[in-house]
This record gives sequence, structure tokens and C-alpha cells, in this order.
Amino acid sequence: MVNFLTMYCIIYYEHILSLLPKLNFSDIIFSMSVPKQRHTKSRRDKRRSQLGLKKLNLVPCPNCHTLIFPHQVCPNCGYYKGKEIIDVLKKLTKKERKEREKEIKREKTEKAK
Ligand SMILES: [Zn+2]
Repeated sequence: MVNFLTMYCIIYYEHILSLLPKLNFSDIIFSMSVPKQRHTKSRRDKRRSQLGLKKLNLVPCPNCHTLIFPHQVCPNCGYYKGKEIIDVLKKLTKKERKEREKEIKREKTEKAK
């Protein structure tokens, strides 16, 4: 005996399919939603006024004088409020570390002038 419920489901499914309109590809294209009303240039431009890039609010680091975001640890020297928070040289290799130390020394002497 074929399960009565499955037979019923199959028949019901075919019935539902017959009720749906037969769609082809061109129908799908033309059934896309269309704006109800035209938007003015002013309205469009007002919406787009939020999309522009804003100027970054950067402040010079008190330790090394590179521009950084306010209230954040300086990624260049690792200092915040006069204390060293991050050891910037820790992740570098020996060779890179030597070069970086030289660079920092050079920067400091330039700023002293
Ligand atoms: Zn710094």
C-alpha cells in the first residue's frame, strides 16, 4: 500500500504548481519593482551628502610627533600619556629592530634641532 499521506501531498503539490503562473525569464525581468515616484535632485543630493569622506581628526603624538588618533596608544612609538604601553620593537627581527632603533634616534635628533 502506498502511503496515503504521501500520495495526497504529491497531488496537493501538483495542484499548487498549477495555480502558480508559468514564468519565463522575460517575465522575471519585467516583474522587477519600479519606483513609485520620482525623487528630486535636491532629495538625491541630500541623501548623498552623508556619503562623502570626512576629515580625520588627528593629533600629534607628544612623544614622537607623528599624527595619531586622539585618546589612543601611538602605533609608532607605543606611548600613551607619557608611559610606554606597547613594546613596538618586540615583534621585529634583530635586523629590523636595529634599523628601527636607528630611525627613532634620527627622528629624535631632528626634533631636538
Ligand atoms: Zn608616538
